[in-house]
Amino acid sequence: MDGELNSGIGGVSRREFIQFCTGVAATLGLSPALGVRIAEAATAPGRPPVVWLSAQECTGCTESLLRSTHPTLEHLILEAISLDYNETLQAAAGQQAEAARHASMEANRGNYVLVVDGSIPTKDGGIYCKVANRTMQEHVMEAAAGAAAIIAIGSCASWGGIPSSGPNPTGAVGVQKILTDKTVLNIPGCPPNPYNFLATVLHFITFGKLPELDHKNRPKFAYSRLIHENCERRPHFDAGRFALEFGDEGHRQGWCLYKIGCKGPETYANCPTILFGDVGPGAWPVGTGHPCFGCTEEGVGFTKPIHALAELKTVSPPTAFARIAEDKGQGITPGAAALAAGLGGAAIGAGAVFASRLGKAEQAETGEHAESGKSD
Ligand code: SF4
Ligand code: SF4
Repeated sequence: MDGELNSGIGGVSRREFIQFCTGVAATLGLSPALGVRIAEAATAPGRPPVVWLSAQECTGCTESLLRSTHPTLEHLILEAISLDYNETLQAAAGQQAEAARHASMEANRGNYVLVVDGSIPTKDGGIYCKVANRTMQEHVMEAAAGAAAIIAIGSCASWGGIPSSGPNPTGAVGVQKILTDKTVLNIPGCPPNPYNFLATVLHFITFGKLPELDHKNRPKFAYSRLIHENCERRPHFDAGRFALEFGDEGHRQGWCLYKIGCKGPETYANCPTILFGDVGPGAWPVGTGHPCFGCTEEGVGFTKPIHALAELKTVSPPTAFARIAEDKGQGITPGAAALAAGLGGAAIGAGAVFASRLGKAEQAETGEHAESGKSD
């Protein structure tokens, strides 16, 4: 273990930092025992630096990072990840800042992590977002050429986000659209959760590779579950208790927000489990009484109106099903059908009896076919 980690870092004790890294390991779905390894990698002198470019954005993604407080921002920015260039946070500006970025990219060629927030304008040669008289398209392509990993943070960088919603006057697209020959890891959200970003960077620094991705290039540790699966209001959804308008009795009682437009049933993200702002239970949009608007989900966030009902991708399964086959295909017994009728209602029972009869009919038919097969 290196000396810096032994003595504590940036005003944060060694114990606190290892606790933080153990939490990162848990977020990544890894053994807590790997917390020490992550802590060592994060404090190693040769760890990959991060170069952060901002395109068409609102600075919300950087603001989100500023709200990470365990440990303190200074520690996270300056110690856990080595942020060599970020226009919002750095003191340098103008030619000095550009020179510093190019020096860092040259010195760390093939080793730095490129982070982009904001969408990339492509219309009219990309002139709608320029820095140092060059388009963002040029900056991103140049920086990507020497990067070890590329992360698009926020919904705008992931697929275009708000700037790409109709009528999209700048031809805004996500980073992957202009880097077609590279893998761009997406961390969508408006804002994205800072811990998903930090955990992704620390995974890369520790293991030398990106975490496992889903079909939209989002890290699975953060985007493999629907909001609806982990929402604390889910029991009310299952029980049919819904807020029907803001401020009504159901809303005040904390009932499900589905009928006032919650997109949790079709949005993949870990918001209900990882929370925001480090202020404790309930600190996420649905927890405070606002429907999820699907900001992490392309085709839902900024596309589907808030009043539109979400597509239900999962529904609660019944606790009992009628068995349609027992004892190796002998068919459901009349007793089981009666039990199903009692448990699940007459419709299920009737369906089970029908299935039972169908099974017997099929059995007879199959037997006939088998016989005829033999005779052939
Ligand atoms: Fe929670 Fe929304 Fe699902 Fe209701 S619809 S349980 S508020 S995620
Ligand atoms: Fe985005 Fe929904 Fe999470 Fe809110 S709850 S941050 S809208 S995914």
